[in-house]
Amino acid sequence: MHQPTTEPRRSIYYDYQVHQPWLASQHGPQPRHRVVIAGGGPVGMTAALELARHGVPCVLLESELQVSEGSRAIVFTRRSMEILQQVGVANRVTQHGLPWRFGNSFYRGQRVFRMEAPHDDNDRFWPMINLQQQYLEEFLVDACEAHPLVELRWGNRVTGLVQHEGHAVVEVDTPEGPYTLEAEWLVAADGARSGIRTLLDLKLEGASYEGKFVIADIRIDLPLPTERLAFFDPEWNPRNTVLMHREPLNIWRVDYQLPEGETPEQALAPESLKTRINAQLALIGQGGKPWEMDWCSVYSARTLTLPDYRAGRTLFIGDAAHLLPIFGVRGANTGFQDAQALGWRLGLVCSGQAPESLLASYSQERVGAAREIIDEAGKSTRFMTPPSRGFRLLRDAVLSLSLTEAFVRPLYHWRTSRPHEYTSSSLNSAGDDNALFQSGPAHGAPPANVCLGADDFLLDHLGGGFDLLVFGTRVPDDVQATVKDWQAQGLKLRVLLVGPGGCAPGADICLPDTDGRVRTRYGVRTDGGAYLLRPDQHVCARWMTLDAHRLNAALKQATTGVAA
Ligand SMILES: Cc1cc2nc3c(=O)[nH]c(=O)nc-3n(C[C@H](O)[C@H](O)[C@H](O)COP(=O)(O)OP(=O)(O)OC[C@H]3O[C@@H](n4cnc5c(N)ncnc54)[C@H](O)[C@@H]3O)c2cc1C
Repeated sequence: MHQPTTEPRRSIYYDYQVHQPWLASQHGPQPRHRVVIAGGGPVGMTAALELARHGVPCVLLESELQVSEGSRAIVFTRRSMEILQQVGVANRVTQHGLPWRFGNSFYRGQRVFRMEAPHDDNDRFWPMINLQQQYLEEFLVDACEAHPLVELRWGNRVTGLVQHEGHAVVEVDTPEGPYTLEAEWLVAADGARSGIRTLLDLKLEGASYEGKFVIADIRIDLPLPTERLAFFDPEWNPRNTVLMHREPLNIWRVDYQLPEGETPEQALAPESLKTRINAQLALIGQGGKPWEMDWCSVYSARTLTLPDYRAGRTLFIGDAAHLLPIFGVRGANTGFQDAQALGWRLGLVCSGQAPESLLASYSQERVGAAREIIDEAGKSTRFMTPPSRGFRLLRDAVLSLSLTEAFVRPLYHWRTSRPHEYTSSSLNSAGDDNALFQSGPAHGAPPANVCLGADDFLLDHLGGGFDLLVFGTRVPDDVQATVKDWQAQGLKLRVLLVGPGGCAPGADICLPDTDGRVRTRYGVRTDGGAYLLRPDQHVCARWMTLDAHRLNAALKQATTGVAA
C-alpha cells in the first residue's frame, strides 16, 4: 500500500503544506476519463492547466502529499513566463521572483566575461527570473485546485499500466490501497525516474557525464545583485567550476564541482560542505559571514531523451521524456514547452477536431527540440566538466588565453534555455509566403512580443486558440467567411486586426498600431499581410496578402499535419 510521507519536508524558508490524500472509497464509481496525467510536478500541472484551457477535463495523479523537496529549478526563462502567463500564474512568479539578465565569469580572480541577455521595452518579462521550485509548484497547485476541469489527486501513485486500442488502464496505489482508472490518454509527467517509462520498457538515448556537482542552498545576507556568478578553476577547488545564484528570501545557491573520485556521501558530509562553502564565501570577499544550510544534493549531468514521446495511448512530457543538464537552466524550462506543445493538440484530438495523427507532430517537434538542446547542452557540459584529457586541455587553453585575449571570452557564454523554433514542422503551411518575408518571426518561431501601451503587450492578447493577425484596416469578406466556417466547426480561432486604429467587421479584437511597431516587428510591408499563430503561439503561416483559400489550407495543415 502506498504510504507517502505525512511529515512536512524541512526547510528554513518554506512552509510545506501536507495535503489530504484522495481516496477512492470517498467517491463514486470511476468513469473512463479523457485524460489522466501521472505526476503533479511543474510540468504535469502546467499540462493540466493547458488542457483545461482547451476545455478538456483531466485527472492529475500525484504520488506525494506535498510539493517538491528543495529548490531544484530556480531560474525560469522569459518563454517559460510567457507560457505561465497563459495558464495564469506568471503574475505570482513576478511578484515573488528576482529578475536578472547579467552573468559574470571569473578566472584566477579576474572577471573574463560578462554575459548580457537582451531585454527591451517590448518584453513584458525579463530574460530570467529566479524563484524556488516549491513556490512555483504552490502557485500551480492553487491554479489547478481552482480550476473546475482539473481534479488533483494527492497521494495517488501510478503502479501499473495496460494499453488497449483506444484507451489505457492505469493501476493506482493510495494510502487505502489500489484502484483502477481508465483513460483515453495517459500523460506521463512522472519525472526523471519515470516508472511509466519502465513499465513500458522504453529506453532513453544519449549520454551521462561523470562530473558531479554539489547543489547547496544557504541563507546568507550578501550585498550582491541578482546576477549569475561562475568561477572557473578557483584556488579552493582547482580545475573545477563553481556557480552562484541569488534566490528570493536571502537564499543563495552554491553549486560546485567535486574533485574526481569523491563520492556523494563524502561530498555531503557536514564538515566538507562547511569548509567548501566558507572557502567560496572567502573567495568573493564575504568570508566569516554567518550562514545556514537549507538543502543540499549531488547532481551529475545527463543528456538523454526518448526517441518518441508517444507510446500507444501514453504521451511523455518533462523529465519523464528527457533528462537535460541544469547548466543553461534547461530542465523545467524545456518541460513547460512540452506541456504547452502537447496541451492544444491533445485538446483538439479529444474534442474530435483533429485526428490522432496530429500527436505525431508533438513528438517530432519536441524530440527535435530535445536533440538540439542536447547538442548545445553537451557543449556547455563539456566546457564545465571536461570529460577527457583532450577536452580539458582545450578548456584550460581557453581559460588561460581569456586573461589576455578578448576574442576567446565569448566561449564562456554557454547558451541558456530558449524557445525552440519548429522550422521544419509538418504543421507549417506549405503554400504561404514565409520565404518572401525578410524579417519577423518565421515558420515555427514563437511570436515576438510588442509593447502596445501602458502594461499592455501583444502576447497578452494571444493564445488559447488559433490567432489570425491581419494587418491593415479591414478583414476581407472571403477571409471572414472562412473564419466563420472554422468557428462553426468548433475551432477556437480569433481574428486580431492590427492597424492604425479603429475596428472593422470580422475582427474579434482590434489592436491599435499607430506607430507601426507591430507591423515592423513582424516584417509586414503592406496592408493585407497576415500571420496565423497556433494555440501555443508559434507561427504556422504568414502571408504578404492573405486570401481565404490559402488560410483554409493553412488551417487544415495546422490541425492535421498534412499539407492540403
Ligand atoms: C537537485 C536538482 C536541481 C535542479 N536544478 C534545476 C535548475 O536549476 N534549473 C532547471 O531548469 N531545472 C533544475 N532541475 C530540474 C528540474 O527540477 C526538473 O527539470 C523539473 O522538476 C521537471 O519537472 P517535471 O514535472 O517533469 O518532473 P518532476 O518535477 O520530477 O515531477 C514529477 C512528479 O511526479 C510525481 N510522481 C513520480 N512518480 C509518480 C507516479 N508513479 N505516480 C504519480 N506521481 C508520480 C513526483 O512525486 C513529482 O511530483 C533540478 C533538478 C534536481 C534534482
